[in-house]
Amino acid sequence: MSNTTDNPCLACSIHQDCCKRLTGLRLTEPEFERCFASHEPELAIEREDAVLVVSQRDGGVCPNWQDGGCVVYEDRPRECRLFPFTMYPTSNSGQLVSLRLHSETRCPLKRQLLGDREGAQQLAQEFADEAYGDSRVVSVRHESPFERVLRWSRQLVHAVHATVRKKGA
Ligand code: SF4
Ligand code: SF4
Repeated sequence: MSNTTDNPCLACSIHQDCCKRLTGLRLTEPEFERCFASHEPELAIEREDAVLVVSQRDGGVCPNWQDGGCVVYEDRPRECRLFPFTMYPTSNSGQLVSLRLHSETRCPLKRQLLGDREGAQQLAQEFADEAYGDSRVVSVRHESPFERVLRWSRQLVHAVHATVRKKGA
């Protein structure tokens, strides 16, 4: 997101929700150093192998969102560039890392903003190459219908667990 007037996101009808609730952004080490290191005290940072998963501690606004735009827009992380595509791991064991892409989102400008599938896959591959180097065999592609159903099932289980935990608290 930039502050330029030709940025369609400035008219976002869900108020830039994708940048204003920073939860689970996947970053390579160089992306973290470039865009987030100076904000470390504000962030919850988890490590998924070679990837850093970053959230705002209070589930709030990305620290790079300032004065109505992204201050690192030209250099923003690949996961931000990919959106409305979303990248997620399906397995990460031994020597194999599998990254999949989907484009299910409530972004109101999804049709306008969605880039081509090949470009998205290439960007995700660059992410993986930077994150894992030569230490893993990486498989990057768009999810299959079977993988989509699996992802929905996991999301459902996760939502049920969260509800049960909330009721038990
Ligand atoms: S990418 Fe979509 S959801 Fe995010 S600010 Fe732009 S229009 Fe809104
Ligand atoms: S780095 Fe920029 S584009 Fe990415 S979530 Fe933060 S404000 Fe949004």
